[in-house]
Amino acid sequence: MSETVLNVNAPPKDHVMVLDGQGWVGLVSMMGSETTIVNAARVSFGKFVSEISERDIILMKYLLENRHTSPLEHVVFSFIVHCPLFVRSQWHRHRTWSYNEISRRYTETDIEFYVPPMVRSQSENNRQASEDTMSKEAQNEAREMIRKANEQSLKEYEALLTKGVCREQARGVLTQNVMTTFWATVDLHNLAHFLEIRDHAGAQWEMVQYARAIKQLIKPKLPHVAEIMHW
Ligand SMILES: Cc1cc2nc3c(=O)[nH]c(=O)nc-3n(C[C@H](O)[C@H](O)[C@H](O)COP(=O)(O)OP(=O)(O)OC[C@H]3O[C@@H](n4cnc5c(N)ncnc54)[C@H](O)[C@@H]3O)c2cc1C
Repeated sequence: MSETVLNVNAPPKDHVMVLDGQGWVGLVSMMGSETTIVNAARVSFGKFVSEISERDIILMKYLLENRHTSPLEHVVFSFIVHCPLFVRSQWHRHRTWSYNEISRRYTETDIEFYVPPMVRSQSENNRQASEDTMSKEAQNEAREMIRKANEQSLKEYEALLTKGVCREQARGVLTQNVMTTFWATVDLHNLAHFLEIRDHAGAQWEMVQYARAIKQLIKPKLPHVAEIMHW
């Protein structure tokens, strides 16, 4: 039996970096391909192709434009995601995905914190939105405050562990900027829905970066679908 120890903060080979190199999304595995989609759609005809033709591209266009998306459910992706806790919370609202996440009950090592590469101001007319209006100087000051808060929270966490407090309670003092790593598995129908609402002007900038990274990762695997969907 062979076993490899992986660093949970290091991406797999097939990955896209995000958030100025602080986060990433990697592709662990993929089941199915574009031929799977057209073969599933043509189940009634008993026809099975192993290469995509012009006819198949027209069929995929028809399926996607008419939301006849059940054939997409036979294509499944497993990703590994390294992101701040607040991105994880938004991601995990997507109930049609399966998740497994590292547990801070098991490990107190490899703790990393996110510091936003650019700091945005609060939108005045939309409570859920932010704007790119802060001066460089104000952004640098804010970044420094965030970095210090992260550092202080790590000090408190370590002090609690030294006092013998259990990891499951001590972790409560860590900031929302703590980076976490999780596996996420989804079929293409639900992934397309995720990409539609998360690579969108209404979504948080950090979340948008992950959605775009996924598009970049899967584009070479599903080139015609990506083109039809404008990914
Ligand atoms: C810009 C933005 C802001 C948001 N703000 C908030 C917020 O402030 N607070 C908050 O709590 N959430 C917020 N969300 C999360 C949002 O409400 C959804 O929970 C999240 O986007 C997952 O979407 P979903 O349910 O469509 O996806 P999935 O959970 O992946 O579900 C996919 C689809 O399956 C169907 N489905 C899944 N589960 C059920 C079910 N139990 N019953 C019926 N149909 C189901 C639905 O058709 C659904 O669209 C926000 C999301 C976005 C994009």
